[in-house]
Amino acid sequence: MSKIKFGIAGATDKFYELGHKASLEVPAYLNSIGLDAFEYQCGRGVNISAALAEKLGAEAKMHRITLTIHSPYYINIANPDEAKRKNSLRYIMQTLEAARNMGAVRIVVHMGSGGENRAAAMDNSRRFIPYMMSAVRERGLDDITICFETMGKISQLGSVDETLELCALDDSLLPCLDFGHINARTQGSLKTAEDYEQVILQMQNALGKARAKIFHCHFSKILYTRAGESKHLTFEDTEYGPEFAPLAKVIKKHKLEPIIISESRGTQDVDALTMKKIYLN
Ligand SMILES: [Zn+2]
Repeated sequence: MSKIKFGIAGATDKFYELGHKASLEVPAYLNSIGLDAFEYQCGRGVNISAALAEKLGAEAKMHRITLTIHSPYYINIANPDEAKRKNSLRYIMQTLEAARNMGAVRIVVHMGSGGENRAAAMDNSRRFIPYMMSAVRERGLDDITICFETMGKISQLGSVDETLELCALDDSLLPCLDFGHINARTQGSLKTAEDYEQVILQMQNALGKARAKIFHCHFSKILYTRAGESKHLTFEDTEYGPEFAPLAKVIKKHKLEPIIISESRGTQDVDALTMKKIYLN
């Protein structure tokens, strides 16, 4: 059986409509509808207590749900101010500690702003990687994989090139390819299987096939403007895309085993199930 997993970011409209309230109830819910993964959201800060994280971990284990965490949005590893980069390291460590407490296997991190000088921002980011990894290894948190995400706004660091370049700097890192973001920042470049395959081949070239095989993936349709990402949509959208079916073809062709997280607007569960169905067809 393939180790590919389908899951959701945060809780969904349906989850709440069914009367559920707490994140603790998500793993049982996901198992009941046939999904495999839950990306816990710490976008506004890592506020989950150790006790609650452990409870969530126990629920996930019982219902065979793989956990990952999205780290705070305000992380900016490219910040020209060293003190602020230090803060970013602290937020990453907090996310890893929460991951340790709940048994999450991956955390997703945004690189940050491209700022006024993109080359300098990339330089700061490059220097941040060994600094970050030595702290992570020192605390023994290096069995949790840090995934840098491709970003949807052109002003943010996180083109496919930039993301892969950073991930290549340490063997333990993985990219989080967010195809909605990639499509948004490239004004709708992802249409055919070949379009997706180009990104996958680029990842294989940068990181090697073994690492590329298990990449992290976000998928949703996203409304975009000339500046890139504007708003997450649902699979009901037929205008902006991208479509999952051509990506499913590429995943099968290259025998990839990503964790695929739906970030649809409220319909993450419905759309993750649609993706799973398309993939299994
Ligand atoms: Zn993200």
